[in-house]
Amino acid sequence: MRLTLYLMSLFVSLLLMTSCQSQRALGKNENGLRPYPIIDMHMHAFQWNKYGDPPPPNLITRKSPAARSDSEAIEAYITEMDKHSIVLAVGSGELDMVEKMQARLGPRFLGGIEFPKYTKPVNRRIEDWPDTNELLNLFQSGKIKIMGEITAQYAGVAPNDPRLEPYFAMAEKLDIPVCLHTGFGPPMSPYMGDPEFRMRYGNPLLLEDVLVRHPRLRIYIAHGGYPFLDETIALMLMYRQVYMDISAIDWLLTKEGFHDYLKQLIRARLEKRIMFGTDQMIWPETVEMSIEAIDSAGFLSKEQKQRIFFDNAATFLRLDKSKYLPGKSLKTDEVNSETIKVIRSEMRLRPATVGDKLLTSFNLNSTGFKSAAVQVTGFDIDAVSEAEMVINGHKISLPEDIVGDMTAKTVTIEVDKKILKEGKNTVTFVFADAVGGTTGFSILAFDLILRKK
Ligand SMILES: [Zn+2]
Repeated sequence: MRLTLYLMSLFVSLLLMTSCQSQRALGKNENGLRPYPIIDMHMHAFQWNKYGDPPPPNLITRKSPAARSDSEAIEAYITEMDKHSIVLAVGSGELDMVEKMQARLGPRFLGGIEFPKYTKPVNRRIEDWPDTNELLNLFQSGKIKIMGEITAQYAGVAPNDPRLEPYFAMAEKLDIPVCLHTGFGPPMSPYMGDPEFRMRYGNPLLLEDVLVRHPRLRIYIAHGGYPFLDETIALMLMYRQVYMDISAIDWLLTKEGFHDYLKQLIRARLEKRIMFGTDQMIWPETVEMSIEAIDSAGFLSKEQKQRIFFDNAATFLRLDKSKYLPGKSLKTDEVNSETIKVIRSEMRLRPATVGDKLLTSFNLNSTGFKSAAVQVTGFDIDAVSEAEMVINGHKISLPEDIVGDMTAKTVTIEVDKKILKEGKNTVTFVFADAVGGTTGFSILAFDLILRKK
């Protein structure tokens, strides 16, 4: 959603009461780092002067953007990324800005072209439907990775309008994620710059026929479909491939209004498909405001916050989560004066089919240990699959918390020292049969600890 300052002013009286909390302590550990990374599923690569020169202040925070060039605008966002452990941003805009962002951020950025309505600098909204052949070339060359943000509502185009059909068909065929603007827009839009804007076309349920026609479409609805709560829940309950981002509403609504809405989505069991987003345009402080809106949600557990900030987006984008998670290290209480030796093996196992396995082996010539334990670091992707570990032919089951959770965990398992032998030892991880388990699990590391006692 693009919000001009003029339109945003209508929100101001509502927001000034609740928005000055950005200095509140964020969910960080004692080192000032977040315990887990964040993915921003919805931001914009906008020109610094998109809304005018000088750029207008954000009327919620009353801060004026400091950037006076496109590269300064990009750096301002990246500063927020680094400050808040945002490991990946999904952003859209015009192609030249998306390319600049891509050049600067590399693999930390997934770009898309916003269409059909966008705002040329300065604040002159035009309608432009991308040529499908050009779009296809951009996807095939890897220059863009996301379809959208599709801002069809601003052009008076419903989600099920035939004009969108070629784009949905292309996205499904190429297996490209689609970001569709849903919900609301700046108040009075039909009178100001977007005469075709229609509130009713923000209704996510209008996407239903598209989903029936394109069952493999990887689509997420932007802004949580706000305020179409019932329709959003209806759509997502029926079509489990649909995800959402909560961008813009996480800093634009009152804290209470946003939390009430989010709570309803959580109560509808949608917590695994809600993804964090900022809708950052030209006001970088909205990043921290958005994060704070999740951090301050007392009704969310730590696990739910982590899902919203990272896991759900990683699942939707099919990322190798281990690339983004903090490097695991041996628990310090395991490395003590009682430890004789630690044998470590970094692993990467991403099985897809039952029976897939990964082997590691180590030589043991250290005698004199009295007890042994293994530490296994890994995580499950869909929370239903099972991993089995076999050491020298002895099956050792992994605790539930490593095979039934979507966050990387290190578990310590005591092993009978008789299982270990002089010379070569072999450890095998097997993707075992499990009800409903189809997408696999990841084992990232295996450590053997030999102790004096
Ligand atoms: Zn939007």
